[in-house]
Amino acid sequence: MDRTQSARWFARAERVILGGVNSPSRSFKSVGGGTPVVMARGQGARIWDVDGNEYIDYLAAYGPLVLGHAHPKVMAALREATYDGILYGTPTRWEVEFAERLQAAIPDLERIRFVNSGTEAVMTTIRIARAVTGRNKVIKFAGCYHGHSDAMLVAAGSGPSSVGVPDSAGVTPGTAHDVVTVPYNDLDALRAALAVHGEDTACVLVEPIVGNFGIVAPASPTYLRDVIDLAHRAGALVIFDEVITAFRFHYGTAAQMYGVHADLYALGKIIGGGLPIGAYGGRRDVMEQVSPLGPVYQAGTMAGNPASMRTGMACLEVLAEPGIYERMDALGRRLAEGIRQLADTYGEAVTINRVGGALTVFFGSHAVRNYADAQATDGVRFARFFHALLDRGVCIAPSKYEAWFVSAAHTEADVDQTLAAVEGAFKAMAAE
Ligand code: PMP
Repeated sequence: MDRTQSARWFARAERVILGGVNSPSRSFKSVGGGTPVVMARGQGARIWDVDGNEYIDYLAAYGPLVLGHAHPKVMAALREATYDGILYGTPTRWEVEFAERLQAAIPDLERIRFVNSGTEAVMTTIRIARAVTGRNKVIKFAGCYHGHSDAMLVAAGSGPSSVGVPDSAGVTPGTAHDVVTVPYNDLDALRAALAVHGEDTACVLVEPIVGNFGIVAPASPTYLRDVIDLAHRAGALVIFDEVITAFRFHYGTAAQMYGVHADLYALGKIIGGGLPIGAYGGRRDVMEQVSPLGPVYQAGTMAGNPASMRTGMACLEVLAEPGIYERMDALGRRLAEGIRQLADTYGEAVTINRVGGALTVFFGSHAVRNYADAQATDGVRFARFFHALLDRGVCIAPSKYEAWFVSAAHTEADVDQTLAAVEGAFKAMAAE
């Protein structure tokens, strides 16, 4: 596959954009290097690079493109959003209509605020929890990503009584001191952390279905309920980070799938239909702590911008049509089962975690239930697989910790073509 133009563009990128990328996960650093492919166009489940090579896309821009690329209804909404000017800095009817639609789908969102990214949404919910409880500490789960606000760039300490250490330069020890990290799917670890830090804990923050060390679901159907109970008994609020999960698996949240209720939710990605967005919301009494009603400050020039409201609305309107999620689930199953069979045929040890149309192929035969399990999978083997797929016209994220996202635009023929590429990749890897 000739990628001469990609290489040229990326060389230019590196001279002007730091590292050549506007988000580090786009670099090929964690897949042993190579030049990131410079994309030019997308339509449905396909994307084309600047050399004209075609790929079946499972990256889905890291999640937002649940309808695939350039869905006609989303594109029409975007075009219409430009006819009347694009920003007012005042209330608009579109943010009202969109908030009403979100609330109808997710009744727990008694009050909503729109922001511009998942990072902002999570950051603000933590601020609110601190204000409401008068406490400082946040308990989060190891390996979960909640955006790049200072407090969320804190890695695990060692043991339940320890607090976190900065995972990024430029994060103060003071910030890290306020963050406690425990393993996902381990209630005893959470109990132990709350035994030590419970009285100082403002909130427990959780991705209800993990998307950030690969797809990892709760190991027991009652896990999330227990997390919530433990947090509430300690007087802490519960924040669900549903930036990846909301509208991913059904028309609503992961919380609804498990029949549980968080105090606050952070949303993003899919709800913008591909334009920049974040949102947070939840219990009315808690949300009313935010300015102008309450003492917690949060603001944004671009917050609720009409274009994001209107593309998000169009996206949700399509997602509300019957059968979409069933289709993505069926395609996800076909893909996962196909990869499983091919791995067995070619002697490749893989563990496939899947929820609906989202799945992760881990290289290793052990179950992956938490971050340590995911870390113990074979990154070198994954890197080989990643490049072999890319060279065969299948685009997935360049990290062993990410998910494949089947979109509503994928077809059975796309999945079968993907499986042929997977077979080629496994065959080549077995021959090495
Ligand atoms: N929370 C989760 C669960 C995410 O996956 C992400 C982004 N991958 C974020 C928050 C941050 O969102 P954004 O990149 O829009 O700031």
